Amino acid sequence: MRTPIIAGNWKLNNTVGEAVTLTTELKQLVADASGVEIVVAPPFTALAAVSATIAGSNVCLSAQDVYWEERGAFTGEVSPTLLKDVGCEYVIVGHSERRQYFGETNEGVNRKAKAALAQGLKPIICVGELLEEREAGRTEAVIATQVAAGIADLSTSDLLSSVIAYEPVWAIGTGRTATPAQAQEVHSLIRSLVALASSDDVAGQIRIQYGGSVKPDNAAALLTKPDVDGALVGGASLDAASFAAIVKAAN
Ligand code: PEP
Repeated sequence: MRTPIIAGNWKLNNTVGEAVTLTTELKQLVADASGVEIVVAPPFTALAAVSATIAGSNVCLSAQDVYWEERGAFTGEVSPTLLKDVGCEYVIVGHSERRQYFGETNEGVNRKAKAALAQGLKPIICVGELLEEREAGRTEAVIATQVAAGIADLSTSDLLSSVIAYEPVWAIGTGRTATPAQAQEVHSLIRSLVALASSDDVAGQIRIQYGGSVKPDNAAALLTKPDVDGALVGGASLDAASFAAIVKAAN
């Protein structure tokens, strides 16, 4: 009943030419995929070209970040309207790399999600604990804080347009994936946190992706867990065949 969503976060990779080549290959490989939503998140500079390349296909477009203001003296920032204008349907907010290297706070993540939703963009709201937090037995508390803050003041329809991505920081780009059981445990916690903040009905409908070293060979085991509704994929999304294999695992 929840359509799985497989999203590729390209991070700081790919020129316009490389982005078009990768997307052209990908859209051919996934042309027959149904019952799964396929999303790519190129860097800002390649959004327009990728938007044109995927037009009419079953691949849709996400940005990797957004600013909450609509216009003005905010050098270097990009607004929700500008992302909509270039064809984005989704935007990633609160990725751990933004929290870690760019000082993104829970409050900022919430402002970005709200600003995106106000312009009809669907936020992929990322949460996840650090290795030391997991080892100190603080995973639940960290996730509870990040989820509550990230979805604060979102209406029912806002929540239904949002995706939550659980990305344990220790699993991102490390080759160390959470086990399906570890992922399921936290996804189920997140669903109960959404129920608490909203309702059982919304919690039953919201999609929760897992992210952290998802590869073709571990995707199926993760995706068969009942509360895992897709994957946010970094490294493996830079290779069309690998990303297509992960899409297939969700099919
Ligand atoms: C990510 O960037 O969100 C991610 C999960 O990266 P990787 O798949 O490379 O761990």
